[in-house]
Amino acid sequence: MQSWLTLRETLPKLDRTDPIAVQDRRSDRRAERWAIRKGLRQVAQGRTASCGLPGGRPDGSVVLRVTDATGTPAQGSTGATGRVAGFSGLWSCGSVWMCPECSVKIAAKRSEEVGKVLGHHVGTGGVPLLVTLTMRHHREHSLAECLAALTKGWGAVTGGRAAQRDYAAGLRGWVRALEVTRSMDNGWHVHVHALIVVEQTMSDDAVDAMTGSWFARWSAGLVRAGMPAPTLEHGLDVQRVDLGSAGLSETSGAWARYLCKGLASEAVMGSTKAARGTSRSIYELMHDATVGRRMENPDTGQVVQLADLHARHLLREYEELIRGRRQLTWSQRDHDLRCDVVDLDEEQTDEEIVAVELEGENVAVLPSHSWKIVESRARRAARRH
Ligand SMILES: [Zn+2]
Repeated sequence: MQSWLTLRETLPKLDRTDPIAVQDRRSDRRAERWAIRKGLRQVAQGRTASCGLPGGRPDGSVVLRVTDATGTPAQGSTGATGRVAGFSGLWSCGSVWMCPECSVKIAAKRSEEVGKVLGHHVGTGGVPLLVTLTMRHHREHSLAECLAALTKGWGAVTGGRAAQRDYAAGLRGWVRALEVTRSMDNGWHVHVHALIVVEQTMSDDAVDAMTGSWFARWSAGLVRAGMPAPTLEHGLDVQRVDLGSAGLSETSGAWARYLCKGLASEAVMGSTKAARGTSRSIYELMHDATVGRRMENPDTGQVVQLADLHARHLLREYEELIRGRRQLTWSQRDHDLRCDVVDLDEEQTDEEIVAVELEGENVAVLPSHSWKIVESRARRAARRH
């Protein structure tokens, strides 16, 4: 088994100026997400097992709606233009961790919020930085151990007197995202991306001292939780947001989408992450556990596609442990970056975000048996890829 190669689709670069290509790509990706969601009904233990089933309307019917895409940030991540179709009358689970479909909707809304916040701070003399903190771990560490270490490590970064000194030195605040991947060789990989904002007046040396202290505190927290100390080289990555040529709103948006990326979205800044080969994202685990994993025998060239039972087992562990954790958290009280941002809507829960129905005109009402056919076609389409 070890010697077989996993085949992953790497999609060709999309020409975003071609509306038909954009539409096709969007349809392909949706078909795949739906196929995975359907497969998860046999794998997920929690509410994701019911996601996408009819249930919004008393007779179980589903309504096809069409609306004009406005190109607002809500749809910006897909570059949607023209007409957009969607379905109403389906139940949505609202899981940012376990659902390929809901996580994408939640990510779009959250990245819109983060983009606005970032834009506000850059416009008022703040400098954004992206700080990534990772752990050192091996195959025997359970996800429970990694998550417990994360709590200790991140708590050491953001709590106590050291954190007060960061704010006094010019830190405005932070928003952090939690991410989990699974490596064949090294087991669960839990890491943190934090978008932080510092005052323009803070010198580079002061910024380096602060992020260096973050790493020391992070590392000490992990060690207290029983994990090995990470090396500075692999444990800390700091990137400055380059607001050069691309323009503020575009760059803020890209960074926000990177931070909030849903399970199924393409990483917009590929250089910082390579979850290919032996390392699998949660989305890839879900794909392998449901649609199946394509593998090639390097000696004979034989290719097989099989539901990956080990991936199912890993997903059960993940689902159990990740439940109740927040994917995105903000620094609190006086340091909440969202304070003073004028055009920010009141924060919605994940469940509220996915409950928002697509507006527009009703094109067709599908009785529940017709809906089943539509959904299984999507599944077959995804299998062809
Ligand atoms: Zn869902």
